[in-house]
Amino acid sequence: MKKTKQHRKSCEKCGSDNLKSHLTTYPIKLGAKQLDVGRVSVNECLDCQTLKPTKAGQEKIERCLVTFMSLWDGDNTLYLIHNKE
Ligand SMILES: [Zn+2]
Repeated sequence: MKKTKQHRKSCEKCGSDNLKSHLTTYPIKLGAKQLDVGRVSVNECLDCQTLKPTKAGQEKIERCLVTFMSLWDGDNTLYLIHNKE
């Protein structure tokens, strides 16, 4: 019976555990817009170059998204949504 439950980080794309964590600019796509969040903590897969934010990185992205949404053309967006109904 194996008791060692390894919780190793691995790439969700290729399954490699050849990951390197560092800070980088992480692009987020919001519809047609792209938001570049600077200095996000990510794990980069050295095999397929997939970027996966760490927990801290994810939290930073979420904080940036909240700020971005409040600055984004909120009125226009709401107007467009209402117009579709
Ligand atoms: Zn990978």
